[in-house]
Amino acid sequence: MLIGSIDIGGTKTMVGIVSPDGQILSKLQFNTERSDPKAWITHSCGRLKECIHSLGYDLKELSGIGVSLPGIVNRERNILVRTVYPEWNNLRAVELVQRLLGIHKVVIDNDVNACAIGEMYFGHRDLYRNYLWVTVSTGIGGALVCEGRLIRGYNGSAGEVGHMKVEFDHPLPCPCGQYGCLEAHGSGTAIKHYIEEEIRNNRIFSDLFDSLGLSKDAAGCARLAKDGNGTAIEIYRKAAVYIGRGLGYAVNLLNPEVVIIGGGVGSSLDILKDGILGTIHKTVNPALLPVDVVRTRLGYDAAFLGAAALVIDQMKTE
Ligand SMILES: [Zn+2]
Repeated sequence: MLIGSIDIGGTKTMVGIVSPDGQILSKLQFNTERSDPKAWITHSCGRLKECIHSLGYDLKELSGIGVSLPGIVNRERNILVRTVYPEWNNLRAVELVQRLLGIHKVVIDNDVNACAIGEMYFGHRDLYRNYLWVTVSTGIGGALVCEGRLIRGYNGSAGEVGHMKVEFDHPLPCPCGQYGCLEAHGSGTAIKHYIEEEIRNNRIFSDLFDSLGLSKDAAGCARLAKDGNGTAIEIYRKAAVYIGRGLGYAVNLLNPEVVIIGGGVGSSLDILKDGILGTIHKTVNPALLPVDVVRTRLGYDAAFLGAAALVIDQMKTE
């Protein structure tokens, strides 16, 4: 059995072939061209064909294709309802992939939902049955698994912790249109904002990035924090406290046994974890503790593997 995977993110797209036990047999990654979504799906399907042919197989040998998309997905109507890229709204993604590749079983979902399902099949697997899966990267997204089942909610957005309010006195604007959201205060974008604020009055900090050839963003700041730079550690601590605040609300409401963290900033969980856990412990009803915060086992490929897991998950319920 072979599964096709298409993971379209806001900046990168991955396509490839995955085995039922989560081995990546073939994968291509390229930057997402967002201006024409139908043309982009067509291009991605073409690259998927390259992947299957490179393994010496044909499309008809695929058991199905999973597609993860960066927005709200309506699984009954099989469309991408809403994204931050308006031209992608109401994209009939399933119909398009079915027609382009001649494969009936095409399953779509939101990228973070796909990550949470991927964790179930290929990551921590049966270790946890109640968890919140949170991606911390440019933005912050979340998905909720209860008793081994993904909870989608009314329009597919259950578990989206990124827009809980975590700052009321000095709220920053969020891409969702609100102010003070976790995404605005604890994401990679927020960390970049804190760096920019700091270097306005701290030339030494700015020069440090330059002298080491580091970008003035979350990744560069993580490197400095890991090297013991106090200012960088403080910036990460600030983000961690906000993340802990948002997760604390979620833990009170949902009672997960663990929060699984993915995403580019999430890969620096070692420097975030104390701040996150410290804040959770101050925020959460002690009866719900302990709750651990761990890294995904799927790494950078979480949404790509998650897309493949969507197919397995659907086959299981048929
Ligand atoms: Zn928001």
